[in-house]
Amino acid sequence: MSAQSHPTLCQVVNEVVETTSVFDIHTHLFDPAFGSLVSWGIDDLLTYHYLIAEAFRCSTEPAEVFWSLDKSQQADWIWQHLFLERSPISEACRGVLTTLRLLGIDARKRDLPTLRKHFAKWTPESYTDHILQIANVRKVCMTNLPFDDQERPYWEKGFTRHPSFVAALRLDPLLLEWEKTAGQLHGWGYDVRADLSGQTLGEVRRFLGDWALKMDSQYCMVSLPPEWRFPENTVTNRLLQEAILPFGRDHGQAFAMMIGVRRGVNPELRMAGDSLAPADVPSVEALCAAYPKNKFICTMLARENQHALCVAARKFRNLHIFGCWWFLNNPSLIEEITRMRIELLGLGVTPQHSDCRVMDQLAYKWSHSRPILAKVLSEKYSDLSDTGWHVTRAEIERDVHQLLGGGFEAFIKH
Ligand SMILES: [Zn+2]
Repeated sequence: MSAQSHPTLCQVVNEVVETTSVFDIHTHLFDPAFGSLVSWGIDDLLTYHYLIAEAFRCSTEPAEVFWSLDKSQQADWIWQHLFLERSPISEACRGVLTTLRLLGIDARKRDLPTLRKHFAKWTPESYTDHILQIANVRKVCMTNLPFDDQERPYWEKGFTRHPSFVAALRLDPLLLEWEKTAGQLHGWGYDVRADLSGQTLGEVRRFLGDWALKMDSQYCMVSLPPEWRFPENTVTNRLLQEAILPFGRDHGQAFAMMIGVRRGVNPELRMAGDSLAPADVPSVEALCAAYPKNKFICTMLARENQHALCVAARKFRNLHIFGCWWFLNNPSLIEEITRMRIELLGLGVTPQHSDCRVMDQLAYKWSHSRPILAKVLSEKYSDLSDTGWHVTRAEIERDVHQLLGGGFEAFIKH
């Protein structure tokens, strides 16, 4: 027998992880029907907030100079600082180059105007399909804000939906800026009051029902600050307990919490100025214990929280943890966190989501994450083999499908 007819376990795992199509459960991408809200192409890639933060470190110019530039000039500035004056060795910079390679674009001449020309032939629609194919992503979950004046008109008018894009109803303004949001809801015909009295909580539930239906949302979500605690008598928690969770039970909507961002730590960096701090895992456990009929999805931004969060998920079957989010989305941390999660939770976890804001990033984020998942899985299957339990290719395919979004789909199923 030749070696070819007997691929090694490692080769099979690599191949299965590479060829299994992903459900990317949290992104900031838009269905191409959202027109100007869709981000794609080299200038959007280069002006990603990760790269803005990195480029600021390389310059002594006042921040206002950068912010006064148009997008293409900002891209030039970032290219100059991060790709020409030094090697683009960080994960975010490497991501731009992986994306170009996967698109078949030769970046070796380091000439940005030439690179731009490669993107001219695409429309948002054709480009979206091209990227989904390159990234081998079968379904993308958006993050959808009914409170956003740019986004809301698309939902109100209605549009033909791309078959690969599904929605998640994001509720940050409702939970974290209630007074302002109450005014907005009132203006849309919901009888709500800033002090939560009268019909308010029922009306918030009606609002959630209307928008979940309009968007066909897969789940509701919020990004909470590290200071969030449960139980605690706050407006946020009352809205959560008396509107969002009852709505979730009635409509089969899971509630996702992304916890740990500290907004605007460096205001000069604008949208690139957010940082992190450890969050409170016992609060998540208390919520899961108090509401066993609700389904919760959680990821945390601080590396320090990851072990406790795994243990929380072991204790509560109504908690599904996911992703290596933002500052954790680096190869060394993805590997560490993925290995720990699989050791503690087996296959009951969604190891990664992309968090992409630019369509093109789907290509690199999955291309960088897949080999890490394959490495960890190969190691675990090999350890199993040592016990005499040999997995078949079909079993590996089943497991990988589960890890790459299939398990999540089953978890949130109504
Ligand atoms: Zn996100």
